[in-house]
Amino acid sequence: MLATISQLTIGVVDLAAAFLFMYGLLRMASPVTAPSGIFVAGLGMLGAVVASFLYAFSVSAAAEPHLLVNVGLALVALVIGGGAAWWSGRKVPLTAMPQMVALYNGMGGGAAGAIAAVELFGNKTTGATDLVVTLLGALIGAVSLSGSLIAWAKLDGVIDKPLRVRGQQAINGLVMLVTLAVGGYIVFVAQTGADPVMLMPGSIYLFFGCALVFGVLMTLPIGGADMPVVISIYNAFTGLAVGLEGFVLQNPALMIAGMVVGAAGLLLTLLMAKAMNRSVSNVVFTNFGAASKHKQGAIKGELKPMAAGDAGIAMRYAASVIIVPGYGLAVAQGQQKLYEFVKLLQAGGVAVKFAVHPVAGRMPGQMDVLLAEAGVPYDLIFQLEDINDDFSTTDVALVIGANDVVNPAARTDRSSPIFGMPILNADKAKKVLVVKRGEGKGYAGIVNGLFYGDNCNMVYGDAQAVLIKMIEAVRGLGLPAAA
Ligand code: NDP
Repeated sequence: MLATISQLTIGVVDLAAAFLFMYGLLRMASPVTAPSGIFVAGLGMLGAVVASFLYAFSVSAAAEPHLLVNVGLALVALVIGGGAAWWSGRKVPLTAMPQMVALYNGMGGGAAGAIAAVELFGNKTTGATDLVVTLLGALIGAVSLSGSLIAWAKLDGVIDKPLRVRGQQAINGLVMLVTLAVGGYIVFVAQTGADPVMLMPGSIYLFFGCALVFGVLMTLPIGGADMPVVISIYNAFTGLAVGLEGFVLQNPALMIAGMVVGAAGLLLTLLMAKAMNRSVSNVVFTNFGAASKHKQGAIKGELKPMAAGDAGIAMRYAASVIIVPGYGLAVAQGQQKLYEFVKLLQAGGVAVKFAVHPVAGRMPGQMDVLLAEAGVPYDLIFQLEDINDDFSTTDVALVIGANDVVNPAARTDRSSPIFGMPILNADKAKKVLVVKRGEGKGYAGIVNGLFYGDNCNMVYGDAQAVLIKMIEAVRGLGLPAAA
């Protein structure tokens, strides 16, 4: 009786959780409703996690002696995992969020792989279909785990160069082939009625080992500006792996959550691939970043510094300004000061807009989040395709902490790792002002010809410090800028 009630409750809670995940995702589509969307989806997850403890009332007779220990272990894992997530969620600065997302992606994949390992080593999977699904989830989960860890290292700067060897793709192909062959062998042994664990536990270890190695090999050579696509792919992989293991466990909440994450990750992959102007097959076959072969052509012109105050005053007297925020703005945490400066300009009658590139920053949507955090109204924020034509009729393009997303090499230099990527047309504005600390390159590691253009001046300094000086200079004019 208790078992029936607990199963029924789990079913109802899982169904409610599925609705909350989807409703939450729907709300995440707009920055206005995103915070509540995250809360709603979190609520669904909390419900599903709590409800899963009800499985304790319907365990098999064989599992009953271990029940207390297992529930205890689950609680300990929950406290450790939940505590670590709570702590890191509060402590991690916004600039380190991409690394955190990569780690969480990896953990999701690892969790799916761990479920598969328990199923395989416990020889719990019956039937060829279930075994194939388990192995598929294990493969994708393990690839996602090791690949995401490498992605984390790249985003964190622990690995700062793409690592490539001759015949990389052939090696990758070989490792994948061995993995698939071992997987096929496990399925074959199971079909003969033999216990694959008893027969050859090494094959399961080999399967996981190869999958983990493949994830590392697949991610190490990726460089240039291609990381957004990688992050999205692992997002999709993790969701898919979790969904497949949910199918194996016949757990609807896991299935739906996994599929929702997988589908969202897939869409994000397509969006990011489009933003980088790469085809998905190019992405899948890891034909990434020809950066190592890239020869930086000689760039004509010189860098022309300008004082922050002068740059602020120049914008105050302009009729229109488009601001291009980039990763450096997030590093400097200059978003509040930026909006303060924008309000001063607006009070002086300057028309100000923000232009956001889909891969600006180190995480899809990072600039939107940054500007939303500062309270910038959404109607001032424009995406690339909606604003690119406006640059040519704009007085000033203020490029603040951005680099790759405004690099004209993407249009002209075939050997460039970012060639073909649509960029924001900042170079077409009448005047370009670039705020950055020095001559540091962007994430793709290439020189930016925009900075040497006749219409461009460099305003050197930390973005926040520069903005403070700009604000002081504009306030000093004593014009109606009392915002
Ligand atoms: P970039 O990384 O190209 O350039 C950022 C610039 O900001 C640097 O040139 C740096 O120059 C400057 N900077 C750094 N700190 C500060 C500071 N405190 N104050 C002022 N300036 C600073 O950034 P973009 O946003 O233009 O481009 C994003 C790049 O990251 C793309 O190549 C994209 O593909 C890649 N990427 C994007 C991801 C995503 O999902 N969005 C994920 C992973 C990678 P200096 O050192 O001289 O100050």
